Amino acid sequence: MGKSLHEGPMKLPKLPDPRYWVSWVPFGLGKVKPKHVRETAKAVWDNKDNLSYAGRILTKGVCDGCALGVAGLKDQTLTGPHLCTTRLNVLRLNTMPAIKDEVLLRDVKELRKLSSSELRELGRIPYPLSRKPGQSRFERISWDDAFGKIAAKIKSVDPKQLALFLTARGMTNESYYVAGKVARFLGSNNIDNSSRICHSPSKTALKRSIGVGASTCSYRDWIGSDVLLFWGSVAANNQPVSTKYMYAAKRKGTKIIMINPHYEPSMEKYWIPSIPESALFGTKLADDVYQVNIGGDIAFMNGIMKHWFVMEERERGSAIDHSFVKAHTNGLAQLRKHVEKQSWEALERSAGISKSRMLELAELLANSKSAVFVWSMGLTQHRFGTDNISQVANLAMLRGFIGRKNCGLMPIRGHSGVQGAGEMGADPFVLPGGEFDDINRKRVEGVWKFEIPRWQGDTVGVSLENALLHEGHKQKTKVFYTTGGNFLETMPNPDYVQKCLENVELRIHQDIILNTSALVDAKEEVIILPSMTRFEQPGGGTSTSTERMVYFSPEIKGHRIGQARPEWQIYVDIAKLVKPEQANLIEFTDAQSIREEIAVANKNYEGIQNLRDTGDVFQWGGAYLCEDGMCPTEDGRGQLLPIELPELRKSEGEFFVTTRRGKQFNSMIYGKDDPFNGADRYDVLLHKEDAGELGIRDGEAVVVYNKHGVFHGRARFDNTRRGNISLYWPEGNVVIPKGVYEKYARIPEYNTTVVVEKADTFHAKKDTKYVERQMDDLETEIS
Ligand code: SF4
Repeated sequence: MGKSLHEGPMKLPKLPDPRYWVSWVPFGLGKVKPKHVRETAKAVWDNKDNLSYAGRILTKGVCDGCALGVAGLKDQTLTGPHLCTTRLNVLRLNTMPAIKDEVLLRDVKELRKLSSSELRELGRIPYPLSRKPGQSRFERISWDDAFGKIAAKIKSVDPKQLALFLTARGMTNESYYVAGKVARFLGSNNIDNSSRICHSPSKTALKRSIGVGASTCSYRDWIGSDVLLFWGSVAANNQPVSTKYMYAAKRKGTKIIMINPHYEPSMEKYWIPSIPESALFGTKLADDVYQVNIGGDIAFMNGIMKHWFVMEERERGSAIDHSFVKAHTNGLAQLRKHVEKQSWEALERSAGISKSRMLELAELLANSKSAVFVWSMGLTQHRFGTDNISQVANLAMLRGFIGRKNCGLMPIRGHSGVQGAGEMGADPFVLPGGEFDDINRKRVEGVWKFEIPRWQGDTVGVSLENALLHEGHKQKTKVFYTTGGNFLETMPNPDYVQKCLENVELRIHQDIILNTSALVDAKEEVIILPSMTRFEQPGGGTSTSTERMVYFSPEIKGHRIGQARPEWQIYVDIAKLVKPEQANLIEFTDAQSIREEIAVANKNYEGIQNLRDTGDVFQWGGAYLCEDGMCPTEDGRGQLLPIELPELRKSEGEFFVTTRRGKQFNSMIYGKDDPFNGADRYDVLLHKEDAGELGIRDGEAVVVYNKHGVFHGRARFDNTRRGNISLYWPEGNVVIPKGVYEKYARIPEYNTTVVVEKADTFHAKKDTKYVERQMDDLETEIS
């Protein structure tokens, strides 16, 4: 898609520069910050029974943590080691032994008392299990039994009643590709992956705005860009090694801007363990922070553009890159008209940012020659997520910040598998190498040699809800096959999700560990299948990073668990049993044969078949997508889209609420306290003055509620935009509405409004207040 190739890793400056130091106090003594040395020592201790295998994973494997991307200890951005505590924390999943029989086969009521973190620590699932309603324990079954039951049930239902889901943690492109193919082979398009709840709007929006749904540039482009904007992204916490890239960018004079309702301490300053001067004295990261309202980003961006058009009135070319816009975009006149008619008052009210601050950022960008926009779930997890991202694309295109060095659009991903999952076709809207449309269907049918069902598949949220449809409904989900994933902890409204899970007739959980969703009853049976990790799978596997690097992760010799099997092999074996007469169409001899087929089915992945060893990597699409402004759209031009201000629906006295991550890797929690602010997971982060108006003191018990649910916690004063609060995820999911999906990408809405009250007042008045939940639920004590 572009002619330029990635230039490979660069060196960091040798000499320190005290201008960027946080303080002269060594190691940030006395400050709230992650304890990297302690964490590393803990990881060594946790893996002490399998240290040499752990070492081989770290030095040879592709990280199964976030999607920043690293093979062994080397990445493509900077020379020097690449390692973080997130990787060290997930390492134990790969080295731990199997769960002991006496624990695994104990009464399920006992297992249900454990949290997901405690279940994870029990160990790996060693063999297939089954549990029917009324059975108090799981029973061990053979693979043949498990396959026989699953195949018989799939044969007995309409393919529209079968739905598949795949996590993005640790899975390989090979497994996603095979799962996508198997789903269609079985006649179902109901296949989805966890990008649905994180970056699906990024892909959808970028596709409609610039013709391709992936990051247009590389991390290397951060370094030396005039401006690096993090919009609704706390990369320092979620992709920790990104701080090293930020450090390198600062050393080249890049200005870092953070846009977020909450003032994230980790994005302001960080002690980067692998850079001696930073480990000692810290590094100041963000140069400026814009604390926007939750959901106020569209207004903020319209304000920036409105000012650009004012600047243009004064001096043509002072803000808009006319040569880029003229040669490579459509829709300038409509966008301008739309933006100009909006009043500053409306923009300020929605954004929660003053006009003067909007002008500041507008002028900074107008006076910059390059910028990279990085975003994450602060922009995507809204019912207008796709519009949020198209607005970012509008900004980039108006300034010509796309398709060239130090410029670009980057949806930064949090899970190592999430980029590849969609690109391999494990998505109801996607086939390998293209959209789910007639042209691509025909093309892929040519590769697969069987017919792909014509109907539009459902996203995972809808598939789960479909379990509640009436008995005779053709789309009632009767078989739900999930590889990883814990819906009780990732989807809004856990009580409702539990009902959905219970109403599925057969649920299959293919996983390496137990989680709370797997313990929920099903109408007929729950079957658990033990799978291998990416490091155990024969023939290795590949993983695609945020910057489109496809890395090879080899099979690592050593530790193996009971009867665990390769993920992709399990799908194939079931498919062959369901349709034995067509078994030859779904057969793969080994992982290499999958890669060879991927290279044919998805032309961006041509070259994947040549990856054989640690460090083998290529970047699909080249260094820049839309290089020189040429977008892969029908007319080769990007679309400037007028975006309406969303209705933010906050009544007097209510707060916007969003969720944030603490010491965790996605939904896997590793510690009670947030390492960046010391907050507990049941703390409610709110502004001191808002709290003062409600008579709430710091540390006081509070209740956060709306008609969807009730959250009991403690007030914690923090630097957040007034009128906005944050709860930890997934604990805060109880107040998130069920069944609200974004229009285009179908991501669930994860932001809403709530009332915050002192717990005393709430309990005194609860009988007279409207709350949808049963009063019994409101009696819950704060632990
Ligand atoms: S930053 Fe991400 S890719 Fe890099 S080591 Fe940490 S978890 Fe792995």
